[in-house]
Amino acid sequence: MKHPLLLLLLSLIVFNCKEHVKSVHHVLKINGHLGQLEIKNSSDYTQAKDFVFGKYNYKDNRRFTKVKAIHASKVLFLDTVVYKAFIKMYNAAAEQGVTLKIISGTRNFNEQKAIWERKWEKYNTLRPMERAKKILEYSSMPTSSRHHWGTDLDLNSLSNSYFSSGKGQDIYNWLQTNANAYGFYQVYTEKTNGRTGYNLEKWHWSYLPLAHEYLNFYNFNIAAKDINGFKGAELANELNIIEDYVNGISKKAKDYK
Ligand SMILES: [Zn+2]
Repeated sequence: MKHPLLLLLLSLIVFNCKEHVKSVHHVLKINGHLGQLEIKNSSDYTQAKDFVFGKYNYKDNRRFTKVKAIHASKVLFLDTVVYKAFIKMYNAAAEQGVTLKIISGTRNFNEQKAIWERKWEKYNTLRPMERAKKILEYSSMPTSSRHHWGTDLDLNSLSNSYFSSGKGQDIYNWLQTNANAYGFYQVYTEKTNGRTGYNLEKWHWSYLPLAHEYLNFYNFNIAAKDINGFKGAELANELNIIEDYVNGISKKAKDYK
């Protein structure tokens, strides 16, 4: 009986090694770079994972730019490529009498954790799952927010009703017609046609030429067990955070190549 068991154990070890090599191979072959970061070794790989988790200092990062006061309601940062694209869109909108204002840009892990845990306390009468689901209507678990990537921004107002009449409606109509041409897409659309995850957010726009690359990396390399370090993190797996929330984006964004 010893032999078959030993054989089984050995084959399991070999299989696991192969799987590991295969996953790293995927990373190197399909995601040989992540944005401007070349992934050549395991340290680059760790850095890439930390990046998509927001575990880095964007204020000291050469790839990030502080947004000018004219474009934003407060001090905030965006990936430089994204900001350049935004300025083009901003100018085009301004020519047609539409004023875009960024109200939120890049947020790192700790900033997202502060938002999450403030809401976690706010809903402390709810049971853990309900508590998390309530927050997830509009806010991400730290490590799973697109705002970590410097590619996503919130515009003008954090209220859908603002965009339903008057000036707000003009802004939203303009964005719907023109934003895609500048690389920006609304990712949290109506939850019709089976979109899962966060509620409708008319204010949240994502620069897909970069963000779709980060999402691909995320899907290849991150599992629910990697989501940790804040209150309620242990619910990530049961809540299908990666499948339903990180990938709960509009069809257009899913189909983006
Ligand atoms: Zn947002």
